[in-house]
Amino acid sequence: MSSPRVEIDLDKIEHNTRTLVRLMTRRGIDVTGITKGTVGLPPVAEAMVAGGAIRLGDSRIANLERLRDAGIGVPLMLTRSPTPQECQRAVACAAITLVSEREVIAALSAAARVRNRAHQVVIMVELGDLREGVLPDHVVELAREITRAGHLSLVGMGTNLACRNGVTPSLAQMTTLGELSTTVRRELALPLPLISGGNSANVTWALTEDDRDLPKRHAITDLRLGEAILLGTDPVSGNPLPGLHTDAFTLVASVIESLRKPSKPWGDQGRNTFGPVAEAIDVGPINQTLLSIGRQDVDPDGLTPPAGVDLLGASSDHLVLRTPDRLPPGAEIRFGMDYPALLRAMTSPYLAQDFSRPRVPA
Ligand SMILES: *Cc1c(COP(=O)(O)O)cnc(C)c1O
Repeated sequence: MSSPRVEIDLDKIEHNTRTLVRLMTRRGIDVTGITKGTVGLPPVAEAMVAGGAIRLGDSRIANLERLRDAGIGVPLMLTRSPTPQECQRAVACAAITLVSEREVIAALSAAARVRNRAHQVVIMVELGDLREGVLPDHVVELAREITRAGHLSLVGMGTNLACRNGVTPSLAQMTTLGELSTTVRRELALPLPLISGGNSANVTWALTEDDRDLPKRHAITDLRLGEAILLGTDPVSGNPLPGLHTDAFTLVASVIESLRKPSKPWGDQGRNTFGPVAEAIDVGPINQTLLSIGRQDVDPDGLTPPAGVDLLGASSDHLVLRTPDRLPPGAEIRFGMDYPALLRAMTSPYLAQDFSRPRVPA
C-alpha cells in the first residue's frame, strides 16, 4: 500500500466497542455506534457491530446510504435533522431520526406515508450546550405534534452536549432528560424506550454511575458513541478512556525533501496563506523534512509525530518537520491523530485507506 494513507486497525475498533458496550451494559445503557468520523466506511461499521453496537448512527444521509448499500444489518439512526426536502431519503435509509422542528416532523411523516411504514423519531432536547434541540418547555407540545402526524412513532428523547460549547454532561442534565421523558410518557401514554443521553462526552459521566449491583440513578438507555470507539478518548478533556486503544488510526505520509537548512526564514515577512506566522527562533541549521500531505488532507494541529520529530509548519500540500537525521525521499513517517485530524483525513480524496484485516465483501 502506498502512502499517503490512513491505516485502520479494525481489531482495535472492535475491542473499543466491546469494552464500551460491556461498561455501558452494566449501567443499563445500549451503545449506538456513530460512523461519521470515518464517513460511514462499511468495514469500520462492521467492526462496531461485531463489538456489540446494537445500532449505528450518522449525521449524514449519504453515509447512512453507504451503510445500507453495504448490507449492514442493524437499524440505522440519522443523528442530524434532515431538511424537509431530505426526508424521503432519510426514511429510505434510517429507521430512527432525531428531530426538533415541526416542519421536519410533517415532512418525515409524509415521507413515511409514501413508504407505508411508520418512521421512528426521537425528540432532541436543548439542555445547555446550545446546539440542536427544543427547550424543555416545548417538549410535550412537540411530542403531541409527532403523535398527531400519523406516520411517525415517537420512541424516545435525546440530548447532545459538549460539541458546541463544551458543556459537560452530568447527572443533573441526565435527570432532567429522564423527568421530561416521564412527563411525556404520562401525558401521551407512550413507552419511550429510547432515552439517548449524548455522545462520547457522556462516557466519563456514565462510568461514575453505579453499575448493576446498585440501583440505577438515571433514566438513560442509550449513548451515541463515535470518538470514544474510534479514538478511545474523551472529547471534553482529550484524555484517553481507560482500557481503550487510542491508536486504531495512523496517518502515514512520505518524505519528498529532507535538507539541512537554516531554522530562521530570511527576507521581508508578512502572513502566509493560512494567516499570521509565528516568529521562528534561530537554533542554527536543522534537518528540515517535507512530507507530501498538507492542510487539505489533515488538521496539522491534531497530529502526533513520532518521538524526536517536531512538526514545524504546514501549507496546503506540505507538512514541514524537523527530523533528527536527513531522510531519503520515499521514507514514511507515521502520526497519531485526534478527532478533527481524523475527520479531515477520512474526508480527503488524496488519502488511501489501509485496513489491518482483509475486507470481507458484504
Ligand atoms: C457526532 C454526534 C455524536 C457522536 O459524537 P462523538 O463525540 O464522536 O461520540 C452523537 N450524537 C450526535 C447528535 C452527533 O452529531
